[in-house]
Parts: sequence; C-alpha cells; structure tokens
Amino acid sequence: MAESFSLPPLPYDQDALAPVISAQTLSFHHGKHHKTYVDNLNKLIAGSELAGQSLEDIIKATARKPDKAQIFNNAGQVWNHNFYWRSLKPNGGGRPKGTLGDSIGVDFGSFDDFKKQLAEAAVSQFGSGWAWLVSDNGTLKVMKTANAESPLITGQTPLLAIDGWEHAYYLDYQNRRPDHVNGVLDKLLNRGFAEENLAKV
Ligand code: MN
Repeated sequence: MAESFSLPPLPYDQDALAPVISAQTLSFHHGKHHKTYVDNLNKLIAGSELAGQSLEDIIKATARKPDKAQIFNNAGQVWNHNFYWRSLKPNGGGRPKGTLGDSIGVDFGSFDDFKKQLAEAAVSQFGSGWAWLVSDNGTLKVMKTANAESPLITGQTPLLAIDGWEHAYYLDYQNRRPDHVNGVLDKLLNRGFAEENLAKV
C-alpha cells in the first residue's frame, strides 16, 4: 500500500497556548478533529489514483469538484490544520519588524488596521471557515474561506491562518468568538512563521 498521511505532532506542549486556548481544546482539536481528517483522507484515497500524491496535489485535483467533495474536505482540513498549528506559538502576537512589518504598513496602512481586518475576517465568517493573511502576487491581503477551502486553490500564498470553526474555541469561549480571536491575535500569532512564508514568495 502507498504511504499514507500521518498526524504531525503539535509544535508545542498541549498546555502551552493556555489560557487563550486550553489544553482541553487542543487535546480535542488536534487529537480528535485533526486526526479524524487524516484518518478519513487515508481511507478515502486508499487504492485510488490519488494515493501517493502530495497533499497539495490532492487538494488541487479535487477542489470544486462535487463528486470529490469528501476527499477535498478532508485533504483541505488536514493541510489547513498542519498550517494553523504553526501559525500559533506561546508568547506570540505583537508587531512584526523587517520586511513583514514594512509590508503590513504599506498594504494595510498600519499594524492596527491589519489587526482590525484580520479580526473582522475571523469573526465575520458565517458558519465554519478560516481567516488568512496571504501574499497575493506580493501584496499582503486578508482573506476568509469557507469550510475546508484555502488560498491554495485561488492562487495566493498563505502566511498565517486562524481557524474560525466552532471546535477551535467553543469549549473555552462558547459563543464569544471575538474574545477568542482577539486572544489569538494579541498573544499567539507566530510572526516568525509568517516571515518564513513571506521570504519564500
Ligand atoms: Mn479546526
């Protein structure tokens, strides 16, 4: 059988993002939700022409094809979560310097305007989905995508992701999505990861 996908370990301890995101939330979000997407994807592609392809290739091959929606949704969610865990870190947040800081100033007007747009995208997503900081041909933009979609299928380069699905915050915040999003923006966003991704553009 072709090699299958596996659940990458969290890049920090399960309690390292508390109190913004509790260990209990990470335990379910990573250990159950993310793992289930990985397991489902492996089952869905086993023995098919998609087995052995990269996650990115599977996402691109199945995007917006109604008869492949189940594969796309699981592959997209595996990729998005792999990227999301690295978008966060303990003692994150704060103003980026260097190229990223300069680009935010040019493309959003100010760091505060950037934060406002990203928070607005994460809070206003109707139903389940994601908020992103992306580079769109070198211009930084905020995007939101529904369900398992991502900038990979519309051609932008993702720099950071915020999970807006209820499972990302409901145990800790119930309906208070804005409180969760503000905590993530102020205390957890991984500037270094965004800088690495921007350097590859
Ligand atoms: Mn999630």
